Amino acid sequence: MYIRVNPRDNVAIVVRPEGAAAGSELPGGIVARERIPQSHKVALRDFATGDPILRYGQAIGYANRPIPAGSWVREDLIDMPLPPSLDLLPLCTAVPSPLPPLTGYTFEGYRNSDGSVGTRNILGIATTVQCVAPTVEYAARRIKAELLPRFPNVDDVVAVTHSYGCGVAINAPGAAVPIRTLRHISLHANMAAQPLVVSLGCEKMQPALLFSNDFPVLESGAPEHVLDQGNVIRLQDHRGFAEMVGLIMEAAGKRLAVLDRRRRETCPASDLIVGLQCGGSDAFSGVTCNPAVGAAADLLVRAGATVMFSEVTEVRDAIHLLTPRAETPEIARALIREMQWYDDYLAGGRADRSANTTPGNKRGGLANIVEKALGSVAKAGSTAIRAVASHGEKVTAKGLVFAATPASDFICGTQQLASMNMHVFTTGEGTPYGLALVPVVKVSSRTALAEKWHDLIDMDAGTIATGHATVEQVGMDLFQLLLDVASGRKKTWAEHWGLGNALAPFNPGPVT
Ligand code: CA
Repeated sequence: MYIRVNPRDNVAIVVRPEGAAAGSELPGGIVARERIPQSHKVALRDFATGDPILRYGQAIGYANRPIPAGSWVREDLIDMPLPPSLDLLPLCTAVPSPLPPLTGYTFEGYRNSDGSVGTRNILGIATTVQCVAPTVEYAARRIKAELLPRFPNVDDVVAVTHSYGCGVAINAPGAAVPIRTLRHISLHANMAAQPLVVSLGCEKMQPALLFSNDFPVLESGAPEHVLDQGNVIRLQDHRGFAEMVGLIMEAAGKRLAVLDRRRRETCPASDLIVGLQCGGSDAFSGVTCNPAVGAAADLLVRAGATVMFSEVTEVRDAIHLLTPRAETPEIARALIREMQWYDDYLAGGRADRSANTTPGNKRGGLANIVEKALGSVAKAGSTAIRAVASHGEKVTAKGLVFAATPASDFICGTQQLASMNMHVFTTGEGTPYGLALVPVVKVSSRTALAEKWHDLIDMDAGTIATGHATVEQVGMDLFQLLLDVASGRKKTWAEHWGLGNALAPFNPGPVT
């Protein structure tokens, strides 16, 4: 059994877990010339040197030697094409018509005073600098053990610690990225948009810089009120460790009492801001979990929600398929701007987009970044692209939005946290990834992974490959699961085990 995605494709993916044995007959009368592992590609016809190898109806590369039908089309037989030129892209030439609105879908969320909606009720302790992280984590452990049990309506206590804040060129253009990312995370909807803040005192990223409008490279709307309410604890103002911890715990106790009085209320699905990403992808990702997430994305967009797709290096080789879907020329040009910025960033480090693929991707049958990108963008569904956000900017538009991030799982997740209140993560090879501040719903590309990691994977999209479910069915199931998880009716496995990866802000600026 094999899967061909597009009628134009001249290769297909082997589905059976044991692979295809040499001499076995494949549908269409082709005979496997050698053993071909699961999720790898079989040639459906003879290739001459230079012939395009088509998957998803697109050239993922060119045969660098003759390849007979029935061969295993391995990475080393394929020359990678150049990325699409950013100067010649079609803009807004195929803007999808809006799909019919989907009404009546709701979830139970926490409404915040700034208009945002939380899916969890968390006491967050924001930090300005890494120096204070272990102290805040110590205090958070004691708050969870000694105070939290008295406040049953509060879900968790999270020390929002990170590696940024000092020893950096704080006025360099690149500094805007980590600063605005951390500002938006510090005001996260799941922390009631009201953090406690712990500062050291002498650090470069002062609380006033994190929360004021004075820092010119940040977008407007900074909530300076955070600084006015006695919410900031400066460790250098206090005498001894025990006093610092005592002050953090005293402030936490007051905040917990306020948070504990909050109740969930019925909110339209349009209040969801869902971040999508993939990690540890394989050749099935682009035919099972990513298209299913795309189907769920279309449902969310129809319900008025915001859906963010990201990961610049996994979009770059499919950009010619995305600029036609931009709703306006300005949005298309913003997409191109983000691609160009990242091309230049990689070139500055003497790398290019081919640095993206991992050994696991290749073991999973992905020959190169072109094949990976074509499967990755399936997460974005089929609707028009309504907005583009640069690295760490807060997304405010409804509908499908490209939010630029690196593809690195923990950096992408950190940056999407600037905006999202729900996270969907697809995986082929598997990762126990999670985030402390938002539920992470993990979707597997293959049933074998969902069975092996039965207590880590939240949904199996491998049923699409075996013909037991359609993309649309899994997409609808995921949409419903997101509403249940957002409402707190269900927990993700990452939440069950308390798996929260460290925040990893993207810092393209210089370190001093
Ligand atoms: Ca990723």
